[in-house]
Amino acid sequence: MAKMVVSDLPDSEIEGKRAFVRVDFNVPIKDGVISEDYRIRRTIPTIEYLTQRGARVILASHLGRPRGRVIPDLSLRPVSLRLSELLGKPVGFTEDGTREGVKATIDGLREAEVVLLENLRFHKEETDNEPEFSKGLASLADIYVNDAFGTSHRKHASTYGMALYFDLRVAGFLVHRELKFLTKLRDNPEHPFVVIVGGAKIKDKISALKNLIEKADKVLIGGGVAYTFLKAKGINIGGSITEDEMMDWAKDALLKYEGKIFLPVDHVAAESLEKRRTRVVVDQEIPEEFKGFDIGPKTITKYISEIKDTGAIFWNGPMGVFEIDDFASGTAHIARAIALATWRGTTTVVGGGETIAAIRKAEVLDSEIIHISTGGGASLEFLGGEELPGISVLNDKK
Ligand code: ADP
Ligand code: MG
Repeated sequence: MAKMVVSDLPDSEIEGKRAFVRVDFNVPIKDGVISEDYRIRRTIPTIEYLTQRGARVILASHLGRPRGRVIPDLSLRPVSLRLSELLGKPVGFTEDGTREGVKATIDGLREAEVVLLENLRFHKEETDNEPEFSKGLASLADIYVNDAFGTSHRKHASTYGMALYFDLRVAGFLVHRELKFLTKLRDNPEHPFVVIVGGAKIKDKISALKNLIEKADKVLIGGGVAYTFLKAKGINIGGSITEDEMMDWAKDALLKYEGKIFLPVDHVAAESLEKRRTRVVVDQEIPEEFKGFDIGPKTITKYISEIKDTGAIFWNGPMGVFEIDDFASGTAHIARAIALATWRGTTTVVGGGETIAAIRKAEVLDSEIIHISTGGGASLEFLGGEELPGISVLNDKK
């Protein structure tokens, strides 16, 4: 069922109204500097559509996983400054979630003004989807807009709970565009359809694979996700990251989908990220005191050949710790191979916070990927056919 979009709202429902826009400003920030702002730029159409029609815009997001504590490094203040540069006008910032001070700031907001709330996950009620917290957030606004595709798979207060209090709950343009591209890939992918999965959120990604694997012709696995599968095969993975909870499913999947799942045949390993001078290239087995931090050269060659003649590709999750040059090669090669596939006519979709940062680092251009999705886990789940709470809660198009 198609969802209502902000542009479906009559202007009378926007002018002078307070619009609560859930955005996903979970961008990489180091020492107060934002290294990748794609997720911020992509929300500009929605923000400007609302301000041009006289709405008072309240933006809210999470950043990282502070687990209910106030962590200054996870403050969204740098994002408010960047957003203000991008919009070319001041963007207010409030220190808190639902307290009185916030209420006062919002009551003082004039038409076409924009304010960003502090990191919602400083309150544990956010991820708990706590009803009173949801109610408090909902009391701040007249209409609800979801433009946070990357968080739509979470049933949190700001993505789900609070939306139920609004008669008007609609998708922003970012979410609308994501649904357009991803629905096509979900319902009618060109074949062979290759899914590439990596990264560090192992549980989320393997859970999403459970459905998606049925639709894909091939699944190439790398990054932190690979070791759970290798361990399930009885291969020594040293101290590499795993999710033991997913081991049984991985074992079954390797039997059931034999020939469909591809795993690394070699790795770049080191004792730790700090001791990276001990960097070595090993075959499939990793020595006890080592950890796998990137796919190795043989795996790269194999995966590139699997990417070459394909109908559609979806990639989420870096192949290694690409932030450190010693472990960036696998991810960079995959990024460039996907860009080449685009030139050869493949429908390429790449998503995920860190994955987007990785394609930038590999100097792949936006025009070399058909669709850059702001979602990683959310896109994987959507493509697997799961309902995303943050989407299903929105009004259906009339
Ligand atoms: P995305 O944001 O693209 O969805 P994730 O959040 O799941 O991806 O994971 C990204 C992180 O995974 C990166 O910061 C990267 O350093 C890390 N990573 C990739 N491979 C490994 C590995 N082998 N061991 C530890 N961390 C890894
Ligand atoms: Mg991430």
